Amino acid sequence: MAVSGSEETGANSMFNCWNCGGSMRKHVACELICDNCGFIRDCSDP
Ligand SMILES: [Zn+2]
Repeated sequence: MAVSGSEETGANSMFNCWNCGGSMRKHVACELICDNCGFIRDCSDP
C-alpha cells in the first residue's frame, strides 16, 4: 500500500483509518482519531 509523504504507517501500535486509510493518532484515553478525515474510533470496538 502506497504511503504519501514520508510518514510510516507500520509503527508500533499505529492504526490506519477505517474510513480513508489515513494515519490515526491517539485522541483520548481509548479513542483514535484520523488526522485526514476526522474519523474517530473507540479502541474497544471489535
Ligand atoms: Zn480517515
